[in-house]
Amino acid sequence: MSTIRIAILTIGNEILNGRTLNTNAHYLAGWANRFGAVVCRMCTVPDEKKAIHAALDHAYGCADWVICTGGLGPTTDDITRKAIAEYFDLPLEYRADVQARIEEFLQHFGIPFEAKHRSLCYVPQGAQVFYNRKGTAPGFLIDTGEKVLVALPGVPIEMRHLVEEYLTPYVQERYGYRPLPFERILLAGVEEPEVHRRVESLIDETATVIDWGFYPHYTTVEITLRMRPATDVAYTEVEEHLRTLRYRIEELFGADYVGSGDISLGRAAGAYLKQLGWYAGAAESCTGGYIAHLFTSDAGSSEYFKGAVISYANAVKHEVLGVPVEAIQSEGAVSQSVVEAMVRGALQVLDVDVAVAVSGIAGPGGGTPEKPVGTVWIAVGDHSEMRSRRFHFPYDRLENIEITAITAMDVLRRWCRARIHKSPLPWT
Ligand code: ATP
Repeated sequence: MSTIRIAILTIGNEILNGRTLNTNAHYLAGWANRFGAVVCRMCTVPDEKKAIHAALDHAYGCADWVICTGGLGPTTDDITRKAIAEYFDLPLEYRADVQARIEEFLQHFGIPFEAKHRSLCYVPQGAQVFYNRKGTAPGFLIDTGEKVLVALPGVPIEMRHLVEEYLTPYVQERYGYRPLPFERILLAGVEEPEVHRRVESLIDETATVIDWGFYPHYTTVEITLRMRPATDVAYTEVEEHLRTLRYRIEELFGADYVGSGDISLGRAAGAYLKQLGWYAGAAESCTGGYIAHLFTSDAGSSEYFKGAVISYANAVKHEVLGVPVEAIQSEGAVSQSVVEAMVRGALQVLDVDVAVAVSGIAGPGGGTPEKPVGTVWIAVGDHSEMRSRRFHFPYDRLENIEITAITAMDVLRRWCRARIHKSPLPWT
């Protein structure tokens, strides 16, 4: 199996003027790496034929494959299809099968196929069409035997859909490519340098076979372990390495080890909750539902998550959750006694076994010298015990909201884990 060398060409003025973040290039590079293909170049050009042709010349200087995204739509500035057809000296031909698929897609929205959609049905002669079920513009693939060109729509969900449905099977069937053995591990509550320090000897032991990646996000660190491309070791042997590494990392990090694969903090908390036969709930002030969102993002969360009270206003804290007015008046809404009362209220109102509550000043306004922006109280408890802690996060509003929700979810996860293992509760 030879290594495919890929260049990624993103086309669109909106990327060059900073309006759109080039997530397509990021996604495609990750996709290529999953198979051990080499990405040798990334380039972005405006919606101009000359620029596209020059970029293709440049890209094929290092690559056998060029994957383009953008400019396949029906508007006059979308010229990618034409530019590519000219580059390969292929006529554009009208495809009735493409029109039928577009009509099918438009029907979902009650929109008729009109003249403005006709340009989408032209495809370079001989190209393999990637029918688009999530949009109107089809993708296509040209394989000259020497060069491969893949053209995909710019809209990220459409592009990803076509990669998964057509491109992945294509490289697997045509080139015998298999995703390289891969593992993802999620840790929480340990800083990245400390993670490095603790796994250093594991990296040394496996560096010839496995590529390690470290991706911190607030208080979590994701470790990725991927087989090095062109390594002369059988996939099964590498998979065995990955299994061993997972166990060793779990041992090294204990309660800070969240899990592997597609684990999230919410899913890990959910697994513990299910083990306990418990339901969780939340009382959210500054996070405004973000904790509930983290829970409900995982399919199956109804088995362990009942809901959240978004008690943004003090009146809701008092009237729905039963937080005493005196506590709010004497200590303020962002205080230990208020978040603890919020947990008690959530346990009752939501009729759950464990609850987490947050109240904080996300910013940019609302801070005081005693309680500056970023001050957050978080409490967690079940029907027998409760813990709470004050934080001072250094970020802007949306970031403060996100880190508060992540921290709350993590402490809930640790709480349930401690109940299962009969180990000390977090924040003890
Ligand atoms: P259509 O016109 O049918 O929407 P298209 O293939 O013509 O599809 P573009 O018009 O180039 O795609 O882009 C559509 C939208 O997709 C853009 O407004 C932009 O927000 C997004 N987009 C385009 N390229 C990228 C990219 N490289 N990364 C992320 N988003 C992108």
